[in-house]
Amino acid sequence: MINVAVLGAKGRMGAEVVKAVEAQDGMTLIAALDLGDSLEQLIGSGTHVVVDFTTPDAVIDNLKFVINNGMNVVVGTTGFDEKKIAIVDGICKQNPEVGVLIAPNFAIGAVLMMEFAAKAAHYFESAEIIELHHPDKVDAPSGTAARTAQLMSDARKAAGLSAMPDATKTSLDGARGSRVGDIAVHSVRILGLVAHQEVILGGVGQTLTIRHDSLDRAGFMPGVLLGIRKVLTHPGLTHGLDKFMERD
Ligand code: NAP
Repeated sequence: MINVAVLGAKGRMGAEVVKAVEAQDGMTLIAALDLGDSLEQLIGSGTHVVVDFTTPDAVIDNLKFVINNGMNVVVGTTGFDEKKIAIVDGICKQNPEVGVLIAPNFAIGAVLMMEFAAKAAHYFESAEIIELHHPDKVDAPSGTAARTAQLMSDARKAAGLSAMPDATKTSLDGARGSRVGDIAVHSVRILGLVAHQEVILGGVGQTLTIRHDSLDRAGFMPGVLLGIRKVLTHPGLTHGLDKFMERD
């Protein structure tokens, strides 16, 4: 039996994780904590895995506490740049027996989209990303878009591609999006959306569009449950659910 605690349990994602864990054979929900609840109650609770879907501002303090207290963690909260990843890596190195998974996207289709986009990036001169989310999202660009762009930018560098064609000389602030590596990322926030992303690649005489749509938060749960099971046997920091899918 895997004992699970959820942080951010009253949030949109956290509430879905609570339901998924309760419905899952072989898992027990030990605690469902939200803003204002003390993490101290996790000590001695028998929690094997903590799942964090809180906020980019709260997540680092949560991780310090749970990792330093020997609990494995599955992190869905976004907003992890290289600096934040390095902080978590440092905490992990002091607690080498603890498993930590940080996944910018738990939707299996989105993980595949990232993989396809990185593969395609070798072959096209131009590439940009449009990510579209509900307007309550607090960080931009999305963690998925940032991760996709980084993978694509790394792939372009490895392929020795030169700078993308772009004759823009004047532009309004933000008109060409934000940059991750050499990839422009455009963020859209619209009521009615959940989480969507389009990767557009272009070469002479052709374009390729790779699109993923998360239509319901339930679509993230198979990935979260996979993460909970796998993190127990993979000590250290793992970034991206794809690593656990390869080993499945
Ligand atoms: P949300 O509805 O705002 O939920 C966040 C919850 O965490 C809220 O209930 C919030 O309480 C609570 N919270 C804030 N600080 C906390 C703390 N220190 N300890 C415990 N709980 C705390 O947001 P959401 O839509 O569920 O998204 C949560 C995070 O997951 C975001 O970073 C989002 O980008 C990310 N996300 C990731 C994936 C993925 O696949 N990796 C998918 C979707 C979303 P208050 O409302 O009272 O502040």
